Amino acid sequence: MCSGRVDLEFVLRAFSSGQDGVFIGGCRLNECNYVTHGNYHALNMALLCKRIMEYIGLNPERLGIRFMSAGDGILFAEVMNDFGKKVKALGPLGTSEGIDTRELKTKIEEVSKLVPYIKMAKREKLDTRLTNPEDYDGFFTSDEIEALFREAPSYYIDPEKCQACMICAKKCPVEAIEGGKNRIHVIDQEKCIKCGTCFEACPPRFAAVTRIVGGPVPPPIPEEERTVARKSKKE
Ligand code: SF4
Ligand code: SF4
Repeated sequence: MCSGRVDLEFVLRAFSSGQDGVFIGGCRLNECNYVTHGNYHALNMALLCKRIMEYIGLNPERLGIRFMSAGDGILFAEVMNDFGKKVKALGPLGTSEGIDTRELKTKIEEVSKLVPYIKMAKREKLDTRLTNPEDYDGFFTSDEIEALFREAPSYYIDPEKCQACMICAKKCPVEAIEGGKNRIHVIDQEKCIKCGTCFEACPPRFAAVTRIVGGPVPPPIPEEERTVARKSKKE
């Protein structure tokens, strides 16, 4: 596949399944046959992922990306040999960094759940074409990544406002919204990937979905209190 199709989630999944290193090989920059130049996107994704790995506590050198053509057989062999040696020297994933395997898996899974939010929050940078290698290092910073996670929003449906129109539940990409006809809808925070679709989809006349940053999410209302109390037209 085009290196531009290598999603951040794929890389995190590889580490979550215990791979000690991940290498992405793309076509030479500026030699893409399409206007999309997906290899630039792959480069940005890898730079972002390296900072996320640092945030998790992993050595970012475990992720490699290089660009070459199908005719660069010798170069490819050299690059792969070097990368293999580097990963071997780094040692097993997690234990070499002093992170317990289970804790590491939990951390990676938590970050993986936020991939749609991360991609949305960083979409402009991910679409940039970095033409100067000197810009690679500081393109994403540790402070920026810490802020990204600190400011990750949560979404909550106000039971006083929800009118059970069911639009949000139909649009949620991960079926994280429990509801039904005449039932106040509730977001399952464990399943929610913070994409914000429900926030956008809830009709403004109801405006029942709230975006919460930096604060706790109120607990869901009990099942037996979820029937919508509709006001009569006379009231
Ligand atoms: S933000 Fe809303 S639409 Fe997106 S996953 Fe969470 S509940 Fe579903
Ligand atoms: S879109 Fe808004 S009003 Fe409709 S079910 Fe969802 S939260 Fe309730």
